[in-house]
Amino acid sequence: MMPELKQFPDKPNTAIQPGKCEGQAGQQSHAIAIIGAGFSGTMAAIRLRRALPPNCVIYLIERTGRFARGLAYIESSAPHLLNVRAANMSAFPEDPGHFDRWVERESVKFPGELRRTKAGTFATRRFYGRYLRALLFDEMRASGGRVRLIADEVVGLDQLPDGWRLLCASGHDIVAAGVVLASGNLPSNRPCDGVVFYDPWTPSAIASLHPGEPVLIVGTGLTMVDLALGMHGQGFRGPIFAVSRRGLIPERHDVVDRPWPASAFTTEERHSALALLRRVRVQVREAAAQGIGWRAVIDGLRPVTAELWRGLPLEQRQRFLRHARPYWDVHRHRLAPSAADIFDAMIASGALRLKRGRVRDVRTADGQAAVTLESHTGGQLETLTVQRVIFATGLEGARANHGLVARLLDTGLVRTDQQGLGLEVTEALEIVNSQGVPAPRMWALGPIVRGVFWECLAVPDIRVQAQQIGVVVAEQIVPLPATSMA
Ligand SMILES: Cc1cc2nc3c(=O)[nH]c(=O)nc-3n(C[C@H](O)[C@H](O)[C@H](O)COP(=O)(O)OP(=O)(O)OC[C@H]3O[C@@H](n4cnc5c(N)ncnc54)[C@H](O)[C@@H]3O)c2cc1C
Repeated sequence: MMPELKQFPDKPNTAIQPGKCEGQAGQQSHAIAIIGAGFSGTMAAIRLRRALPPNCVIYLIERTGRFARGLAYIESSAPHLLNVRAANMSAFPEDPGHFDRWVERESVKFPGELRRTKAGTFATRRFYGRYLRALLFDEMRASGGRVRLIADEVVGLDQLPDGWRLLCASGHDIVAAGVVLASGNLPSNRPCDGVVFYDPWTPSAIASLHPGEPVLIVGTGLTMVDLALGMHGQGFRGPIFAVSRRGLIPERHDVVDRPWPASAFTTEERHSALALLRRVRVQVREAAAQGIGWRAVIDGLRPVTAELWRGLPLEQRQRFLRHARPYWDVHRHRLAPSAADIFDAMIASGALRLKRGRVRDVRTADGQAAVTLESHTGGQLETLTVQRVIFATGLEGARANHGLVARLLDTGLVRTDQQGLGLEVTEALEIVNSQGVPAPRMWALGPIVRGVFWECLAVPDIRVQAQQIGVVVAEQIVPLPATSMA
C-alpha cells in the first residue's frame, strides 16, 4: 500500500510551522539540524535517525515546504524520466534492489510511471519522489516523533559554545548540537526579466510560450534536453535553438550486459588529466575488441572517479573542467532511451536545432531578446531574435548564489573548494572554514561538495555520502542524559 502522506506539505504556504524553538541559546541541545530536504537531506535524516542515540531529535528544514523531493523529484504533470536505471536508484547502497522492489509493488497502481526498455527500466522522476517520501514517512513513524519537519528557510548560522543557532526566514531560531548542510544544487539568483531566465529549473522558464516564436537554450546537456522535452510535452513545437561551444548532446543508455571494471592507473596517469583520458580511450578500444561497449568502461570508472579526481593536482582538474568536461558529461550522464527517442525526433523534425558557438551579447526589448552568437570557429556572428532565452549551462558555483551559502562564505564559516564549484569539506564530510580547519559539528553532502569529490551529483553517489553522514555524526554526538533533554 502506498502510505498515506497527508502529513507531508507539498506546496509552499502549507508549512509545518517551527513553533517555539527547541532549546535556548547556550543550552546543550540533542538536536541535529539538516538544511534542505531533497534527496541528500532526506537520506541524511533517515541515516541519522538510525545512527544517533534515541534521545536525539532530527530537524529536517526545507524552505519550499516540499519534503523529500528537492529539485529533481517534484510532483509534476510532465512525466520526465530518471536518467539512471531503476536498478541503480536504490536509496540504500547496502540494499541495491530496494527501489526495484518498491517499483514492482507500486507500479501496479501507477503503470504509467515506468518505461521498460531493452537497456533497462526507467521510472519517472515524480515516481522517485513518491518513493523518497514513502521512505521518509516510514522513518518518521519509526522515530516516534524524533524526526521533525520544519518548513522554513535557514538564512544564517551563529556559532554557540556547544553547537549552532540557525536563524530562519520566519524569525524563528533553532538550536542544534550539529548542522548538516544539504542545500543541493545552487540555482542562479540572477534576476529574471521574463525573457531571459538564468534559473532553468523555475517552472516559469518554459511557461506561457507563444506558438511558433523561437526559444533559445544556452547549453546542450541534460538540462537542455529536459527543457526541450518539457516544452514538447506542453505542445510547443518550436523552433527551439540550443547552443553550446561544442554542440555535444547527451548519449543514450543502451544494454550493458558485461561489466568492465576500471583497471589500475599508473602514478603518471593519476597526475595528468590528459594521460587519464588517453588511458580511458585505450580501455574503450580494449573493451571493444572483446565485444564490450564504451558504456561499460565509463560505468566501470564510477567507483574510482572521486579518488582519481582528488588525486589530480589543481591545475589538472582545471584543465579537465576547461577541455574535457563536456565530453565526460555526455558519456557519463546519459538519457533514458524513450526520452532520447523523443529528443531525436525533435531534431529530425527541425523542432530543435543545435548550434555550435558562444553567446556574445543578449539584448532584450518589447518582450523579445536579440542574441548575438559567435560561431565555434570564431569570427562569424549571427543574431537570433527569440521570445525567450534560458541559460542551462550548469551550476554557476557557490559564489553565484545569494542565499545562505553566500552568507556563510561572507562570515568565513565555510569556504569554497579550490575550483569554486561548491564548498570545501574533509574526506569525512566536515565543512572547512575560512581558516582551513573543520568547523565544529558541521557537515555537508550532495552536489554542494562536488568540487571535492566530483562524482557526487547523483543518487548512487549521494546515498553513500548519506550513509557516511550517519557514521561520522554519530561519532561526534555524545548522548546526553535523558533528564537534560530539551
Ligand atoms: C532536473 C534534475 C534531474 C535529475 N535527475 C537525476 C536522475 O535521474 N538520477 C539521479 O541519480 N540524479 C539525478 N539528478 C541529480 C540530483 O541532483 C540528485 O539526484 C539529488 O536529487 C540532489 O539532491 P540534493 O538534496 O542534494 O539537492 P536538491 O534536490 O537541490 O535539494 C536541496 C533542497 O534544499 C533546499 N534548501 C536549499 N537551501 C535551503 C535553506 N537555506 N533553507 C532550507 N532549505 C533549503 C532546497 O529548497 C531543496 O529542496 C537530477 C538533478 C536535476 C536538477
